[in-house]
Amino acid sequence: MNVDKSKEILEALVGFDTVSRNSNLKLIAWIEQYLDKLGVKHERIYDHTGEKSNLWATIGPKDVPGYILSGHTDVVPVDDQNWTDSPFKLTERDGKLYGRGSTDMKGYVACCLAAVPDMLKANLKKPLHLAFSYDEEVGCIGARGIVSKLPERPAHPIACFVGEPTEMDVVVGHKAKRSFKVTVRGRTCHSSLAPKGVNAVEYAARVIAKIRDISDRMAQKGTRDELYDVPFTTGHTGYLHGGTALNIVPDVATFEFEFRTIAADKSAMLVKEVIDYAKNDLEPEMKAVAPEAGYEFEDRSEFPGLDTAENAEVTLLAKQLSGRNSHSKVAYGTEAGLYSDAGVPTIVIGPGSIDQAHKADEFIAVSELEKCGKFLDRLIEHCAR
Ligand SMILES: [Zn+2]
Repeated sequence: MNVDKSKEILEALVGFDTVSRNSNLKLIAWIEQYLDKLGVKHERIYDHTGEKSNLWATIGPKDVPGYILSGHTDVVPVDDQNWTDSPFKLTERDGKLYGRGSTDMKGYVACCLAAVPDMLKANLKKPLHLAFSYDEEVGCIGARGIVSKLPERPAHPIACFVGEPTEMDVVVGHKAKRSFKVTVRGRTCHSSLAPKGVNAVEYAARVIAKIRDISDRMAQKGTRDELYDVPFTTGHTGYLHGGTALNIVPDVATFEFEFRTIAADKSAMLVKEVIDYAKNDLEPEMKAVAPEAGYEFEDRSEFPGLDTAENAEVTLLAKQLSGRNSHSKVAYGTEAGLYSDAGVPTIVIGPGSIDQAHKADEFIAVSELEKCGKFLDRLIEHCAR
């Protein structure tokens, strides 16, 4: 892969404001033009609005199993962040390329695209698939469309490399996430008559305390996976809203909670424990005072975890291609769990550091693009054999 070419492509990609709330179609059209010039066919997989699209392209034979290179085209917002330069214009300083999405993860997408001429020249025996998604940052939405089309493809992929920024570390696992919004309905009255009402804030607090109890239990007695920074399943409540004044018993409260589970644990069991407690232990006493009182649980988001075996072929291949002997697991979620659940062994490996992601003055070091380029060169060699 030509590093100058990857920088040039990255500059173009960063120039498109593809914050998840916006359409990504202009960026997709730019990539299509680039592929057209190289004679590579491509396919859009739209969302339901038609305003966003994934891009799928295959280089090499279509009817034999190959490797997916997965990247997302959307980026997180820059609102309220203090950038030195314009976030949507790539700026180079001291061997670093600054711009929104430079590390997360247009850098990887740029490397993959810069490697396409080499892929074409290599006479690949196994194909390489470019799979670029939309709306990853808001719950791995786009990749679901790519994954759901895999069974229609002429050959099931051998493996997938998701290029989230790992500084080209071989990442074999990340936690699964599941989150809920809870609305607690009570009955209002003057605070001096408190027992005649149902205090929604108090009933919210009791469920929140239960979530905390479960989290403490997982921390103390749950299964451990020491490859994680936080080596056990966690739970957490992110906010609680409710009430207006001290002398009014509040009739409504809302909060959101999540579980982030390691592979040994299933969020469904933990969520059931929370819902059972609310519905069976608390709701009857609420309804005894006010029949309209109770809990509503609304599924907010979920993505599956990743847990690729240390000795899986894809793990060994990734180590060979990146020249590394070690592997790790990361705290953040990626599209990798979706591919893995679809029966495609998957590794997260990409240029740049997650430390720079989502922040002001996000950057990727040019040396990271070079490392990724070497990885892709070796992958191309591997596929040409
Ligand atoms: Zn990302």
